[in-house]
Formats: sequence, structure tokens, C-alpha cells
Amino acid sequence: MPVRKLCGAIMALLLAFILAVPAFGAQTRPSSAEWPRNILEDAPPADSSDTHAPRPLSSKDKLVAITFDDGPGPYTGQLLDELAARDIKATFFVFGSKIDEKTVPLLRRIAEEGHSIGSHTYNHARLTALSNAQILAEMSKNDECIAGVTGQIPELMRPPFGAYDRRVINSCGKPVILWSLDTRDWELQDAKTVCKNIVNNVQDGDIILLHELDLSSKEGVVAAIDILAGQGYNFVTIPELFRLRGITLEAGKHYHDARREGTLDAGNPSCR
Ligand SMILES: [Zn+2]
Repeated sequence: MPVRKLCGAIMALLLAFILAVPAFGAQTRPSSAEWPRNILEDAPPADSSDTHAPRPLSSKDKLVAITFDDGPGPYTGQLLDELAARDIKATFFVFGSKIDEKTVPLLRRIAEEGHSIGSHTYNHARLTALSNAQILAEMSKNDECIAGVTGQIPELMRPPFGAYDRRVINSCGKPVILWSLDTRDWELQDAKTVCKNIVNNVQDGDIILLHELDLSSKEGVVAAIDILAGQGYNFVTIPELFRLRGITLEAGKHYHDARREGTLDAGNPSCR
């Protein structure tokens, strides 16, 4: 057969095949009238938006804020990877004297990935032992340091060692964020126990205290996140937790959880 005729025959076969395929599909696929009624009724309404977009959270959802003190540390990069993989946002309380050329990129990454950054003073100072002027100096120096990296002054603070009293609360100029669930991770350095402490004690509205010092903290909290996500818990930043619960964070008050308004007195001094 001449080449031109052979090509013509191949083209004709291809054309026949292309025309046949939609006809075959139309015969095997039932029309909408033939679908079982319940499938059509249960189908979500047509929506051109991204169907993978997360559902916006409401005050009725189970909400928890995970907080990390004393970072960035050697495991911060891994922790951020794990949080990003689960689309979870956390809050990091940072002290400026730890920020150097190694930790600057991590601090910048924390901010860029949508986590909240709070102040943990500049020198990780025990504020109850300082004068009012010294407290202010610790706070403003740390603000400058963090804003110099992230472009934003932190809106919240957590006192190092959980050392606070009425004077510290009144002098620091920011809402004081404490916690309701202490994992004791820095002391235990055991991922399984950290995970168990979280899973066995967590309540809706909790603020969970962790540190960025040991690998076991990262491993324990990630394991707990995966268990609690299966129980319907959602993990949000401190500002988001309080916003969703309709509580306005105010300077001069301190907060242990998002189950109640902040208090003006020094609260429970045994909470460390
Ligand atoms: Zn600390």
C-alpha cells in the first residue's frame, strides 16, 4: 500500500475510535434521572470554590492553643514542618537575647508561616525580682529585637519561670498569657509522657505549655495533636483562641485559658 494511502487508513481508524468513545461513555453512564434519589439529595450544592479549603472555625468548636517557650531551638525547623503538614498554627514566646544569626531565619519562618509570636522578655528575666523600670526595659528591648526580624511588635507576653504578681502584670504593658495545662516537658524529656499528659488532661479552651528545648517535646506534642485531632480538637494561636471565644485580650490582665475572662489580680500563685 502506498504510504499516503496507509496514512489515510490510519487516520480513518483513529477518527472512528475518537467518535466511538463518547458514545460508549454515554451508554454506560446513567443519566441524572437514573441516579438513586438519595445520592442526588445528599450531594452538596455545586460550588466553584476550592472544596479542600478548611471550614471556618466557630466558638462551638473544640479549641486548644499550643504554646512553645524559649525557642527557636535545634528542633524548631522540624516542629514547623510537622505543624505545616497538619495546617496547624501555634504561639511561640521568644526572648531576644537568644536571637542570633542561627535563630533569625527560624524566627522569620515562624512569623511567615502564620504562627503568633509573643514576648518572653529580652533576658529570660525573673520579672518579680526587677523594678518597674527594669521590667519595662526588658519588654521594650525584646519588642525591638523581635520587630527587627519579623517587622511586628509582639502583642502578648509570658513571664519567664511563670513568675508574676500584680506589679508585673500592671507594668509589662501587654496581656499576660499563662497556661492551664503544663506538660512538664522540659523536666520529663520523654515524648510518651508528654503526649499522655496532654491527651489525658486536655479540655476545650486550654492553653498548653511546651518548650522548644528537647526533641521529646516536639515528638510528644505531634503525637498528641494526631490523637486529639481525631477527637475533634482544633489547634489555634492564642489571639485566635480568644477571638473565637469572644474574649478581648487586655494589657493589665492575665489569662490561664479561654474558658473565662482575664483577671486583674495575680490569680493562683502556685501556677508555675
Ligand atoms: Zn522560658
